[in-house]
Amino acid sequence: MTSLYSFFSQGGLLAQSHPQYEFRQGQLEMAKAVEEALRERKHLLVEAGTGTGKTLAYLIPALKSGKRVVISTGTKNLQEQLFFKDVAFLQTLFEKPLSVCYMKGRNNYLCRQKLYDAEREPVLHGLEEVREYQLIRDWEKTTQMGDRIELAVLPERSTLWPRLDARSEMCAGQKCPQFDRCFITEMHRRAVESDVIIVNHHLFFADLAMRDQAFGALLPDYGAVIFDEAHEIEDIAGQYFGMSVSNYQVQHLIRDVADVSRQKLFASPEIDRALIDLGDRNEQFFALFPHEGRNAFSNHRRFLEQHGESYAELTLSLEYLCARLEVTANAVEYTLPLVRRARLIQQGLRFWVEEADNKFVYWTDRRQRGVHLQAVPIDLSQTLSARLFDRVPSVILTSATLTVAGTFDYTQTRLGLPQVRTLRVDSQYDFARQVLFYVPPQLPDPRSNLFTERAAREVQGILEASGGRAFVLFTSYQQMRAVYDRLKDELDFPLLLHGDAPRSALLEAFRNQRGAVLFGTSSFWQGVDVQGEQLSCVIIDRLPFAVPSDPVIAARAQNVRESGGDPFRDYQIPQAALTLKQGFGRLIRSTTDRGVLALLDNRITKQAYGKIFRDSLPPYRFTDKLGDVQDFFDV
Ligand code: SF4
Repeated sequence: MTSLYSFFSQGGLLAQSHPQYEFRQGQLEMAKAVEEALRERKHLLVEAGTGTGKTLAYLIPALKSGKRVVISTGTKNLQEQLFFKDVAFLQTLFEKPLSVCYMKGRNNYLCRQKLYDAEREPVLHGLEEVREYQLIRDWEKTTQMGDRIELAVLPERSTLWPRLDARSEMCAGQKCPQFDRCFITEMHRRAVESDVIIVNHHLFFADLAMRDQAFGALLPDYGAVIFDEAHEIEDIAGQYFGMSVSNYQVQHLIRDVADVSRQKLFASPEIDRALIDLGDRNEQFFALFPHEGRNAFSNHRRFLEQHGESYAELTLSLEYLCARLEVTANAVEYTLPLVRRARLIQQGLRFWVEEADNKFVYWTDRRQRGVHLQAVPIDLSQTLSARLFDRVPSVILTSATLTVAGTFDYTQTRLGLPQVRTLRVDSQYDFARQVLFYVPPQLPDPRSNLFTERAAREVQGILEASGGRAFVLFTSYQQMRAVYDRLKDELDFPLLLHGDAPRSALLEAFRNQRGAVLFGTSSFWQGVDVQGEQLSCVIIDRLPFAVPSDPVIAARAQNVRESGGDPFRDYQIPQAALTLKQGFGRLIRSTTDRGVLALLDNRITKQAYGKIFRDSLPPYRFTDKLGDVQDFFDV
């Protein structure tokens, strides 16, 4: 079999087939470490700096390993890039056909049964939907995958697609007449036949959390998993090992029971009454949580004493609906998924209201009319140890941001991986030459009232020096808005504001408008790739400490304290250092990029803990003078 060296070496297979390929020692080292971990059934953490070429460094060993390997990426876009670009390219270097597939969430695939039902029933609203329906119907006849990504002409915000997709809530499973030719069945079949399966973290953890349950797994058995963008997995895993129930879930259930019972002719006055009753109970119960935003919830006993009746009425109402649906014998393939949903809501409510499990943090999250009751494990490390690391022989985690001040300790502790092989591969970029890191020394502390105005003036000065071409990133929406409002009439650059348009549209506008400046919050801190001069400056308002009063952060900090640690040193600082590293990672995306990183929070130079942040960043050239920024851009 072709060795790794033949792929990665100077003049090797990659260099011969790819005109832009450059030999990178770090990439070869990483590939060797991945190959070894797969062969020896070991876990591995690899921090691969930007430009390492980490995708090929794990993909080639995975393809050569002879095991079934799951590769999990941070987003659907990365999944597509991996499958359609990297795997397609590698196929030209392997003699045998590569056995690779991808799996996405069910809502990406068409449900054939719903499409056929829609032919007979009046579900289309307006001419736009009629046009979309025709597009989907024609495509359904030829598509092999049923993945909407193939239908590029279907608008991103199609209102019809969510009513025709294959999400499980309305799926009759094996009782469906289309089951054998269903795109979801096909997706599972392909996965069973593949050596490498590309998923995203959401699908991976949804599967992991369900593996022990009766409904079974989404993924076939596998011998190894490789996580790209592995810094995200603690948060994402939490969502799947936790619980969430909302008034919207109940409302959607009511809507779907009403629609399906009419379409499938099992509507009855009893079911209608059950739905009206459930709607009332739903409203009454969720009105008990009137406070906007995220609020901790801890006193379960008192809640039950005060509001036990509302809670009992809601669960009884769900029970009654299930009973009505279950006696509808002639439409079991349609009532079954509805009953299953009602039971899941009941289970969620019971867990949230009654269980008071002290290993979980509970909170409410109200956004205008939506109320979500949520719970996640406080400490994911034990869950991940038991469910992932003890079970899968080889787990490989890679990202550009896994170390804090040069060590993996924080990541290992958070994930429950005390003994593990580690590797750090430095970035290919010459940061000391390509980047100037600017921290204005005279600004007030970001917690002071004077900060916003002074920060706005500083941003103005930096943007004038850089000629726009910048991301200005904030830790809060409020602060972003306050600075933007102060500058919007004073800056002579095209300004883009997070929230004014979908993220992808903002990014496209940023790429296409000369000198554009984008004001953004958290979602622009990672996974955004703008190469070249158009992004020449990244300004960050403050050290990105998570809000300490947030229920999840507070519970996790408390847990660190109870385990004998110092929450600030052992949790908040490392977490913020990794986020800062992510934010700054937006700037340099190739060896020819150059630019300025500005941090308006001089605690990084004035406070003792600032050293941890500085030691976590690559070796940038540092300045505290705006004049140097000007000179940098004048060159
Ligand atoms: S099995 Fe489920 S998803 Fe597939 S076509 Fe039937 S109802 Fe739709």
